[in-house]
Amino acid sequence: MAVTEPATTPHSAVAHDGILRRQSARESAARTYARSLPIVPVRARGLTIEGADGRRYLDCLSGAGTLALGHNHPVVLEAIRKVLDSGAPLHVLDLATPVKDAFTTELFSTLPAGLAGRARVQFCGPAGTDAVEAALKLVRTATGRSGLLAFTGAYHGMTAGALDASGGAQDVRVTRLPFPQEYRCPFGTGGDRGAELAARWTESLLDDPKAGTPAPAGMIVEPVQGEGGVHPAPAEWLRRMRAITAARGIPLVADEVQTGVGRTGTFWGVEHSGVAPDVMVMSKAIGGSLPLAVVVYRDDLDVWQPGAHAGTFRGNQLAMAAGAATMAYVREHRLADRAAVLGARMLGRLQGLATGYACIGDVRGRGLMIGIELVDPHRDPAPSAEGRDHPAADREGAPGPAPADPGLAAAVQQECLRRGLIVELGGRHSSVVRLLPPLTMTDEQAEAVLDRLSDALDAAARTHRPTATTGGGP
Ligand code: PMP
Repeated sequence: MAVTEPATTPHSAVAHDGILRRQSARESAARTYARSLPIVPVRARGLTIEGADGRRYLDCLSGAGTLALGHNHPVVLEAIRKVLDSGAPLHVLDLATPVKDAFTTELFSTLPAGLAGRARVQFCGPAGTDAVEAALKLVRTATGRSGLLAFTGAYHGMTAGALDASGGAQDVRVTRLPFPQEYRCPFGTGGDRGAELAARWTESLLDDPKAGTPAPAGMIVEPVQGEGGVHPAPAEWLRRMRAITAARGIPLVADEVQTGVGRTGTFWGVEHSGVAPDVMVMSKAIGGSLPLAVVVYRDDLDVWQPGAHAGTFRGNQLAMAAGAATMAYVREHRLADRAAVLGARMLGRLQGLATGYACIGDVRGRGLMIGIELVDPHRDPAPSAEGRDHPAADREGAPGPAPADPGLAAAVQQECLRRGLIVELGGRHSSVVRLLPPLTMTDEQAEAVLDRLSDALDAAARTHRPTATTGGGP
């Protein structure tokens, strides 16, 4: 396939380069997406972004999984315009407004049974990480305990508490538990057996008085680990986590920041297991592309004092209107079902593609959260749990998973970009190419995405020279 070129020579190409140059001169070294995606978006609609240089891209990053309806969906724009034209105040702290009332009604109509009838919502600061902080404070207040149970490979945000709950925890109050992984199973078994062993490890840490586990205020879990490399929580394992926490009076906190609003093929990610969490953390898609985050929890946990968790920006009226319109559209158009069907089809095609490439170690996902793990087939698997005693080795005499190849993943991302496709990288070693397209993507668009992606994979696989990494472990 031809590399994308602008249809005409854009007069803004010079401006485009200048903007990028000034960005790298003036913005923080901590900037992220801007490094691997040197794009200056000026227009966008649905799956498509147009850059200032006239190039068009199919956007499968979707604001890091925020844009359930893609860019600038008409119902979202209409909802925003309606608020603007109404003369309603845009800043209202946490006061009641008709817009907020409608948002809460819509949100509550989507909640899993078991939480729906007894839900409370706290409007917190506008980012996912703010909602995680609020949830942690809530369960610590409600239980009077300060420990936290969190999982390997987790990602919950960048503020202190959320960061501690994520994979690189520093906080001694956090007990790290194994999240089941099919491909790089820490127990070397994979499947139901791996999930069962992970559950037993959790149980034993909680019940062994000498395990050194600080009394937990809660367990926080992603129904599908996103940043950690697209690992769906097995349904049975999540039910076990529910039973284990319920039996010990430990609130279960589902971080639905990335999995919510239809993304995984059900409206909320926990619905795959039928589990009702005690607390749900939500952001991204619930704001319909604008900043908004909430914590939803069962009413008996609502023990904190007035002002226990405050903030100036808790009343974004435009985000609430956009979010309510997004959730209603997803519900009315059954876009969660659509994500399940389309996601399964895309996964199937990618798994077919993987058979032709030794460097595609694994293809996995749930709904429209899809990951392709790239490996270096020329290097030996690590000789541990993921190595020779891996189930693949037992069954077929084949070695276990090859080491991760983050360099190849980066090369695939760049080849995708050259072909007008924006993809995300994630995973423990940044070796997982991630797709998070809008739920509104058509069949034809999905085909175009897969064509560009397979072309990019082919180009990267042919030209990339593996870099020696320390990768390979989960
Ligand atoms: N939780 C999960 C599961 C996430 O994926 C993210 C962001 N990727 C966050 C929390 C943090 O959200 P934010 O970046 O809006 O703070």
